[in-house]
Amino acid sequence: MTNFKKNVYTFGNKSAEGDASMKNLLGGKGANLCEMNLIGVPVPPGFTITTEMCKVYIKEGRETVLKMIKTEVEEAIVHIENQMGSQFANSSNPCLVSVRSGSRASMPGMMDTILNLGLNDEAVEGLIQKTANARFVWDSYRRFVQMYGSVVLGVKAFSKEDQDPFEEIIDQLKEEKGVKLDNEFTADDLKEMVVRFKKVVKKVTNKDFPSDPWEQLWGAITSVFNSWMNERAIYYRELNNIPEEWGTAVNIQAMVFGNMGINSATGVAFTRDASTGEDLFNGEYLINAQGEDVVAGIRTPQQITLEGSKRWAKLAAVSEEDRVCNFPSLEETMPEIFKELMEIETKLEVHYKDMQDIEFTIQDGKLWMLQTRSGKRTGAAMVKMAVDMYEENLLDEKTAILRVEPNKLDELLHPIFDKKALKTAKVLAQGLPASPGAATGQIVFFAEDAEEWTKKGHKIILVRMETSPEDLKGMVVAEGILTARGGMTSHAAVVARGMGKCCVSGADSLKIDYKTRTVEINGLTLKEGDWISLNGSTGEVYQGKIATTEAVLNEDFDKLMALADKHARLEVRTNADTPQDAQIARNFGAKGIGLCRTEHMFFEDIKIKAMREMILADDEAGRRTALAKLLPMQRDDLEGIFKAMEGLPVTVRLLDPPLHEFVPHTEESQKQMAEEMGVSIKAVREKIESLHEFNPMLGHRGCRLGNTYPEISEMQTRAIIEAAINLKKEGIKTYPEIMIPLTGTLTEMEMQKQIVIATAEKIFTERNDRIEYLIGSMIEVPRAALMADKIAESAEFFSFGTNDLTQMTFGYSRDDTGKFLPFYLKKGILKQDPFQVLDQEGVGKLIHLATQKGLSSRPNLKIGICGEHGGEPSSVEFCHSVGMHYVSCSPFRVPIARLAAAQAAIKESLAIEKKRTRREDSKKESIKNEHEKTLEFASV
Ligand code: PEP
Ligand code: MG
Repeated sequence: MTNFKKNVYTFGNKSAEGDASMKNLLGGKGANLCEMNLIGVPVPPGFTITTEMCKVYIKEGRETVLKMIKTEVEEAIVHIENQMGSQFANSSNPCLVSVRSGSRASMPGMMDTILNLGLNDEAVEGLIQKTANARFVWDSYRRFVQMYGSVVLGVKAFSKEDQDPFEEIIDQLKEEKGVKLDNEFTADDLKEMVVRFKKVVKKVTNKDFPSDPWEQLWGAITSVFNSWMNERAIYYRELNNIPEEWGTAVNIQAMVFGNMGINSATGVAFTRDASTGEDLFNGEYLINAQGEDVVAGIRTPQQITLEGSKRWAKLAAVSEEDRVCNFPSLEETMPEIFKELMEIETKLEVHYKDMQDIEFTIQDGKLWMLQTRSGKRTGAAMVKMAVDMYEENLLDEKTAILRVEPNKLDELLHPIFDKKALKTAKVLAQGLPASPGAATGQIVFFAEDAEEWTKKGHKIILVRMETSPEDLKGMVVAEGILTARGGMTSHAAVVARGMGKCCVSGADSLKIDYKTRTVEINGLTLKEGDWISLNGSTGEVYQGKIATTEAVLNEDFDKLMALADKHARLEVRTNADTPQDAQIARNFGAKGIGLCRTEHMFFEDIKIKAMREMILADDEAGRRTALAKLLPMQRDDLEGIFKAMEGLPVTVRLLDPPLHEFVPHTEESQKQMAEEMGVSIKAVREKIESLHEFNPMLGHRGCRLGNTYPEISEMQTRAIIEAAINLKKEGIKTYPEIMIPLTGTLTEMEMQKQIVIATAEKIFTERNDRIEYLIGSMIEVPRAALMADKIAESAEFFSFGTNDLTQMTFGYSRDDTGKFLPFYLKKGILKQDPFQVLDQEGVGKLIHLATQKGLSSRPNLKIGICGEHGGEPSSVEFCHSVGMHYVSCSPFRVPIARLAAAQAAIKESLAIEKKRTRREDSKKESIKNEHEKTLEFASV
């Protein structure tokens, strides 16, 4: 059994044993309750049992933990009693308490809460005597029995079809007494309710409802610890990456009552608008109610401010007369309290320098704060608040930039589902959130059909087992892409992100039958033409149409980006294969292209024909004839891209995928190919069979293609150099960088380099002109990373292809992770999907090594990353830390990477500053000590 110095921290009456910096130990709620006391905000006295005790509870069980906290809890209860002038477990002057959870990160509604604890039949009488308010006392008692009964004693509905037994009793009583709302029950009605509630408890648990307040308290504490491991909390933690090790604290506080009558109330409020970011204090309250009533929707909550109340009435079509009579704002009903609340909300926001989500109770005309925490907010609100707070001088520049979660910018860049529409939508399946955005369309299973349907004006969702480059055209016209297989770096995911198109991949509950053109999802069969909707940010698949709203980038976004760019050291480029994508990325602030996958250009009609002709050719001469047809097309495409990126570097990668990806695989399309090529179907089939590989991703691809068929690299180099020379003639500056994929040895790299140089020199002579260009290597094979000093003797730049590097370092096929990765993540075998978030420990070690080795043999080596990780914030931070020069990511991730790059630089500078201060402090300390010693010596 571990011994801790202190397991319980008290607070109350403007003093506290903890403070806001102790979130890890006291949880967010506990730390902030202490802090509120320290800054003079009225908070009911109480104490917090540390998160360490939750860990002990989970590891060693109830008895151990109760033994460890017993004395401290008893003392802390006395601390509450002294401040409240009442006594816990005393019938004539009872002190009641609330018991609430509170972890390091806020997990709203996921864990348990018990209010009004300490009541029993005797205490009820005592409290009635004391308050002369029988209705209030019986109301508190029935709430306690219901909450304790369901949370601690487990009295719940049998199945999801059954009603909660307590709610059933309330409904019965309403009918019997002829009342509509809870607050219309009389004291006698509530007394009757308690009797019936207790009977249910006895029936279900075979025991009487516990009447000893101490028994109630220990039961509630262990129940809150237990709730850390309930299904809801576990799911929430998974979604939000909250480690299980953190545990929850337990907060025990003197009860203050919002249900004491018409001078009492309870409410929740936000210091700014959490959905738009507007600096607008807003919230809801209820008179004569307790905390959970406001969120439970039993009665319509009223607005706190008059302005909010008027806005609400307009939306709810409530007349001004009705509003004033039945739904007045707190500003109108309790103007003095409202003023005090406004002062406190301002004080809290200024103190925490962030938008606060607060809970309060008004007990008989006195305001008490029960909670403050940083409020959850939308991406748009996050940006607006950071920029506004910076302009208001509430935040300095660095803090304002650090305040925005880079990934939340996604929400601002893609169309989004209408929040109201989502509430009633039916979730059909869950896949991977492969490319963010919201898409609604009719199901189509084949790329060709996708084109036809869209030509006829339909909006479609392309539903595939998985996609291949052959499906590209269908993907281009689709609103969104849904696949049953494939991970975050599967073809569908990579291409969709590149296009900024919504994609859900790896939704393995999809059973697609291409023959019948149907898909079965959890027992429901949908056919071609049926409507579905995808949320690419969450991976959810919905039935039917859901309304979307377009994202509009605003001034705040631009301001934030401008601030970010001032700090970032890493440049952000984009992965783009078309002038359109290049332009989008440039508008988002990309400083060049870090990866142009040339193979994506070969899939359009005429190009794919020439490509197939080259593949079918029996010899070099045949291949050269076909490549000659491809050359002008490739050159035109590149001119378009270079133009879009005028004045900025463009990294063009030579052909990478295995050739079999360019040939058709169905009988019908093979026949068509044979006809077009003027050869027999047999010849086509034989060629395709000859291209078969057992492990194509480890096979004849990358520079292995260029080295076995040098004429391909020659043609591509010619296209690049000629495009650049042509543009030079038009006065357009280009900075081509030719990139060799999948190199593993210096010789592989050197062979390709010689082809490129020879071809370029030939063109320079032919055209009597020259341009500057670089030749570099992708580092995506582990051997290349290990031999980076050698490769850098030849390569002028490195670009880490972390998709392949992750694949080959882990030995996980990037297209087949769906079978085991979800299990690995659930079981904690892996903490994150390494194809999404760079594995800094392993793959990162190779990157670090390769960077150092590369720079050791070529100090001016340019280094970047172009795998999918280039747009993932923690990976960007890593790239900054190893000293890369740029990251390259899909166009829609460019702003995310820009912000992440700025944050990485700021964090680094703050850490350096901190270290310097620490060093200076310790220097001062040692000088002081020396000085004191000298004085001591002198005095002797
Ligand atoms: C990579 O492997 O990281 C990369 C960028 O190349 P591709 O995804 O095209 O294989
Ligand atoms: Mg690769």
